Amino acid sequence: MRTGEFFAPTLRQVSGDVEMASHRLLLRGGFMRQLAAGIYCLLPLGWRVVHNIEEIVREEMDAAGAQELFLPTLHPVELWEKTGRTESWGPELMRIRDRNDRAFCLGGTHEEVITQLVASGVRSYRELPFTLYQIQVKFRDEIRPRGGMVRAREFGMKDAYSFDRDLAGLDRSYDAMVEGYHRIMQRIGLPYHVADSSGEGIGGWDTREFVSLSEAGETAYVRCEGCDYHATPEVGEISTSEIVPSDDPMQPLERVETPDQRTIEQVTAFLGVPAQRLVKTLIYKADGRVVAALVRGDRDLSEDKLKAALGADELVMGDPATIERVSGAPVGFAGPVGIKEAEIVADEELRGERNFVTGGNEADLHLRNVNWGRDFPEPRWAQIRNAEPGDPCAKCGKPLTEYHGIELGHVFKLGTKYSDPLEARYLDEDGERKPIIMGCYGFGTTRVMAAVAEYFRDDAGIIWPRSVAPFDAIVITISQDDEVQRTLAERVYAELRAAGLDVLLEDRDERPGVKFKDADLIGVPGQIVVGRLAGEGKVEVRRRGGESTTVDADEAVAALQKLMADNVPAGFRPPE
Ligand SMILES: [Zn+2]
Repeated sequence: MRTGEFFAPTLRQVSGDVEMASHRLLLRGGFMRQLAAGIYCLLPLGWRVVHNIEEIVREEMDAAGAQELFLPTLHPVELWEKTGRTESWGPELMRIRDRNDRAFCLGGTHEEVITQLVASGVRSYRELPFTLYQIQVKFRDEIRPRGGMVRAREFGMKDAYSFDRDLAGLDRSYDAMVEGYHRIMQRIGLPYHVADSSGEGIGGWDTREFVSLSEAGETAYVRCEGCDYHATPEVGEISTSEIVPSDDPMQPLERVETPDQRTIEQVTAFLGVPAQRLVKTLIYKADGRVVAALVRGDRDLSEDKLKAALGADELVMGDPATIERVSGAPVGFAGPVGIKEAEIVADEELRGERNFVTGGNEADLHLRNVNWGRDFPEPRWAQIRNAEPGDPCAKCGKPLTEYHGIELGHVFKLGTKYSDPLEARYLDEDGERKPIIMGCYGFGTTRVMAAVAEYFRDDAGIIWPRSVAPFDAIVITISQDDEVQRTLAERVYAELRAAGLDVLLEDRDERPGVKFKDADLIGVPGQIVVGRLAGEGKVEVRRRGGESTTVDADEAVAALQKLMADNVPAGFRPPE
């Protein structure tokens, strides 16, 4: 391909609200263009990268025994109503109507469609197990699209679904997919971690995320340097072995007027006590029953952990009417002392606390020196707070640290979450009809492009790993007017192509500085510069982000292949 004919309009400037470096570089380099907020055109350069990512994903899915298919983008809304996800997704689900005013949505994920398909196609245990996948676009009406393809409203994704007879089968299917994900990430060459995580909008258990480390990533994770445990804060397990009951003497319970002081910040400032002396009381409804969840004032409650502790299928924040009914006070003054109809669940950490401050279950009232066991019955204990840096790791006790990352893949065991409502069943050997046991496995193909560009770059532009690079090499002619250079460049270009490489020939009538800048910006791994030394039959061979050497033109192909033997340049360090 010749750059003079290639559609890759670069940009000198991008708008100031583009925050992530990868987003800026992909726009500037002509990989993608924004059509509307969170919606992008993938230009030939960007599409080549995404296509390469898809090919790796496809090969590894096939190798893991999964079968590719292609499902519709338009889904009847009734199908999503059957699983209750029109409600749980809310406005994130993009909806449209057809000419007959029938309601459809644009697929944000495909559990419903594929489960219905399989329900109509499987009769007996003999037809199980199998795993299906597709590579398709997904639509999610994000409130705040961000980072280009990191959080877009329309994006590419590989989604796979496994169908098994029983949980043991699911474990095998799941392990095969996880193994496939490791191979995909290793082939792409982007460093990654696997973190325990939660079901977020899909449901299930044993959910894990494949995460690329990035300071600009929007998701926070905790990690243990001691045992390499990674998790989202919501599910990160904290050791409770260090919690010792306080031996402070219990002080007499005190009522304190706190007019209009509702938030932790307001109450701590008003009473002059640190947030850790306060206990927050959060009212939830778990499968319809009311729960008062207690956590220290400086902690964040984990809804995932609370839900798990209660064994609840559905957990929602209490509405103001419920809060007022059980606490007898306006929102902001709930506390455990004298609360009605609510089961009290307290974070394990509070076992070690004495004489804390809580809401008083009356308007404008808080209580000081509250103690469990004396002022309210001993609650149900469970770990229901987010893990934080400094918390001891549950596995080895070392302190957890925090980092940010970009979630690339997400695997879930679903069980019968979708097969039950959509009646996906099979007839077992014993003649009994049983629900099919499912797992699902997502991988963001366009997001991976962004994550790779975020990690592999320098001040000049992107440094693509060979695995996903849009081209293998670019031949740059310094002076297009010089016939010797032009002829030699054409020869090297032909030889590289004959060697099976995907090559760009930079033949535009531009200043050399512009050509070098653009070549560095788009980050093609191999660069061959045909310039002053062309008369002596010599060219310069470079690895973008790596070494360079000057060789006879005859040796250019071999020299380039040697410099590009590794997927990423030797000694590459991501920018700080
Ligand atoms: Zn550990």
